[in-house]
Amino acid sequence: MTAIGAGETTDNAGGRVNLLGLPRAELEAFCAGLGAKPFRARQLMNWLYKRGCDRFEDMSNLARDFRGQLAERAAITLPEIVTEQRASDGTRKWLLRADQTQAFEMVYIPEADRGTLCISSQVGCALDCAFCATAQQGFNRNLSSAEIVGQVWLAKRELGFQPGGDRIITNVVLMGMGEPLANFRNVIPALRIFLDDLGFDLSRRRVTLSTSGLAPQIYRLAQEINVALAVSLHAPDDELRSQLVPINRLHPIAELLEACWHYIDEQNGRSVTFEYVMLDGVNDSPAQARALARLLTGHPAKVNLIPFNPYHGTQFRRSSEAAIGQFRDLLLRGGVMATVRRTRGDDIDAACGQLVGRVTDRTVVRLGSRVEAARTRAAGGVDA
Ligand code: SAH
Repeated sequence: MTAIGAGETTDNAGGRVNLLGLPRAELEAFCAGLGAKPFRARQLMNWLYKRGCDRFEDMSNLARDFRGQLAERAAITLPEIVTEQRASDGTRKWLLRADQTQAFEMVYIPEADRGTLCISSQVGCALDCAFCATAQQGFNRNLSSAEIVGQVWLAKRELGFQPGGDRIITNVVLMGMGEPLANFRNVIPALRIFLDDLGFDLSRRRVTLSTSGLAPQIYRLAQEINVALAVSLHAPDDELRSQLVPINRLHPIAELLEACWHYIDEQNGRSVTFEYVMLDGVNDSPAQARALARLLTGHPAKVNLIPFNPYHGTQFRRSSEAAIGQFRDLLLRGGVMATVRRTRGDDIDAACGQLVGRVTDRTVVRLGSRVEAARTRAAGGVDA
């Protein structure tokens, strides 16, 4: 297996099709293949996503024959929960098994007016951002659509599926382990299920895909689906950004921003959220704040400043509160909407950039080879 975006789906459960992760059109096609009417697919989705049922034998409004066929040809296979941790602020983190040796993480962040589930799209990550703990793990593989959808399903089971209106998970963010746009082919069907009113029925403004900046994939995304887009910018100039987010060497800031504005135009979106990790003495000076404001002002952009979350072995330090406050004020004065992300769950290493899962089989480990591998692949797209 190679670096960014390589990998295969594991939607196939012992030769049977895993129904979890099949968007409506594909589920209908699957039912048609069994000689069943399209409304059977809608019934199945209702059982799966509204009622949290994962056993065909319990799906009482399906004909017995059809249930028999499903049991033979299909499966509902979820990732297995290995451990759960709870932080003092109510944040919960689950470690989920990908296979014998690999595991990935998801995090639930409760707040007064919403509940956010932060999910993973890959086991490990190949992007090698300098300040991210997941990057230290290297990359193992893409998660399948079923494993991505299965995270929300499991979290709902743990938190309680509420018939007649579940509002416990109001937001889903692809900000866990991995680069979602490097796993395009499995992420898109999962997003469709998140938004489908027969699926998790989430508002498109409350499903956020965060990318380190794979510009060509943002154009592809614009053709496929309308969700909230977040982009990890982290620096106002190419020299610094290339050090912090190495994919910038392939897709520099100007190219990335063009892709972002295209996405907003194409999808009638409101604005792109630019994530900016606050690293003491690295990217947090007043001059850098002014440069960032100049870059973004007049565009559909807002900035979310993320206080750096330290992890074992990192050389970076979090910016002081004063520096973060001043940085935000300079952005606001420069005409750019800016907020500071509250750190959650850091006592259980559940905060941004602290997710490591368990990645023992890393295929591509260091930066140079990754950028080279990415360059080679750039011509043909990332995982198409
Ligand atoms: N691969 C996606 C999702 C990553 S996680 C992406 O790069 O956007 C979500 C955010 O957390 C990203 O902006 C990421 O850069 C940021 N992040 C990573 N490590 C961090 C750390 N140690 N402290 C704070 N934020 C971090």
